[in-house]
Amino acid sequence: MLNTLPEPDVIVVGAGFAGLAAADRLSAAGCRVVVLEAQQRVGGRVATVHLPDGTPVDLGGQWLGPQHARLHALAARLGAQVYPTPTDGHNLLYLGGQRHLFRGTVPLRLRPLTLGNLGWVLLRLHQLSQRVPLETPWEAAQAAAWDGCTLGAWLRRNAPDAGAFTLSRIALEAIFAAHPDELSLLHALFYLRAGGGLLHLVATGGGAQQDRIVGGMQTLAERLAQEVERRGSSVRLGTPVRQVRTEGDRVVVEGEAGAVRGGRAIIALPPSMAGELSWHPALPQDHAELLRRVPMGSVIKWAAAYEVPFWRARGLSGQAISDEGPVHMTFDASPPAGKPGLLVGFVEGPAARRLASWDPAQRRQEVLRCLVRLFGDQAGSPQQYVERVWSAEPWSRGGYAGLFPPGVWTQLGQALRRPEGLLHFAGTETATVWNGYIEGALQSGERAAEEVLTCRL
Ligand SMILES: Cc1cc2nc3c(=O)[nH]c(=O)nc-3n(C[C@H](O)[C@H](O)[C@H](O)COP(=O)(O)OP(=O)(O)OC[C@H]3O[C@@H](n4cnc5c(N)ncnc54)[C@H](O)[C@@H]3O)c2cc1C
Repeated sequence: MLNTLPEPDVIVVGAGFAGLAAADRLSAAGCRVVVLEAQQRVGGRVATVHLPDGTPVDLGGQWLGPQHARLHALAARLGAQVYPTPTDGHNLLYLGGQRHLFRGTVPLRLRPLTLGNLGWVLLRLHQLSQRVPLETPWEAAQAAAWDGCTLGAWLRRNAPDAGAFTLSRIALEAIFAAHPDELSLLHALFYLRAGGGLLHLVATGGGAQQDRIVGGMQTLAERLAQEVERRGSSVRLGTPVRQVRTEGDRVVVEGEAGAVRGGRAIIALPPSMAGELSWHPALPQDHAELLRRVPMGSVIKWAAAYEVPFWRARGLSGQAISDEGPVHMTFDASPPAGKPGLLVGFVEGPAARRLASWDPAQRRQEVLRCLVRLFGDQAGSPQQYVERVWSAEPWSRGGYAGLFPPGVWTQLGQALRRPEGLLHFAGTETATVWNGYIEGALQSGERAAEEVLTCRL
């Protein structure tokens, strides 16, 4: 029971990368920390499962890019090995019923009109995003106009060519796990800038999908939790928090497993999960509303395992883009030894919501139908198939991250990182770099820990 724990200096709610990074920083500075995690594992939106032969498969966050300095440093510190996502061979583009081969990030052999319009969309998004201050997006000169319209409305105005519209929509759905109509243009511009630009976000070599962790990303979270515990702090699994109370100069965090009293608390949850806690005294109105108004994206991640990565023998990289869904993108996620061959991919946004209520066998059939269209009949008979419907996960309720609909950044954004008395807020949604990514989660945890340390001085 929690009531028997010695009183910690800081209570951290949530053992995703944000909560663990905060606990890591604080415990290294000599604070006693208790991390309370609802699930029976650490990692949150990072989740590694194992196939019957022991092959690790990441069904949540898996990639790190060269710009993810914190994540690379953490992997090096904790002795985790990094290996590159395979990029040899041709990528596939399935567009208008035809298969094309290409290399690199952007398929260049498109109709000139389509290519020109696609180039314009990429350039404009990049230029506009450079005008969004990452710490204070609501202060962008055109914040009101950009937050008053959706990314989808902007895209329809700027991509009159059907092919350019489709390819842009596929890339944006892959980034946000939502239809472009679901989020504000200001949020999209902020997010693109925070992640180094759209091309970085969708690229493999040199981009956000460049590398993997040997053994799976969750092993890194597990090692970080061990590091925290080695310093005398504790990570309590299976302890959902329901209520956060401030009583004088103490915070009381309570759930079915009892209550812990501590000096300060860091809430390291996605906004929508934090919004479900009961707060005493109530949070200021803008902060409470913000937490309720940032829904999660919708995503299903699947992985199909074959004896070998058969696509490589055909000169293919395993990366594909398709205008026919519900699978619009695939990647080769085979382990470093190349056996078994693993294809992974996503079903995002509206399609994820549609398929979420299907029978798992029917969903598998639908995904495999897409793979056969891209990679031929062999893709239809994997040895193993695993998936995770993230909107059905009770402690995440979606992914990849929280999305700001129109009006939220400009009306409520100032509350996002604001400490409330003894309470501090972390989580990738509060990050100013790589928001929505593991790197952003780490940054947010470190920032919240610094806030606490500054207050204690
Ligand atoms: C399918 C998918 C693929 C992704 N791919 C990538 C990728 O390749 N690279 C990348 O960088 N990012 C990726 N992401 C995003 C990345 O996983 C997240 O940005 C990151 O893991 C978020 O970390 P966090 O600590 O902020 O939040 P979370 O990981 O959500 O951590 C919150 C923790 O709080 C716990 N919790 C929730 N409610 C309570 C409660 N009431 N009491 C106690 N505990 C609670 C949860 O169980 C969870 O462990 C992906 C996400 C998904 C879903």
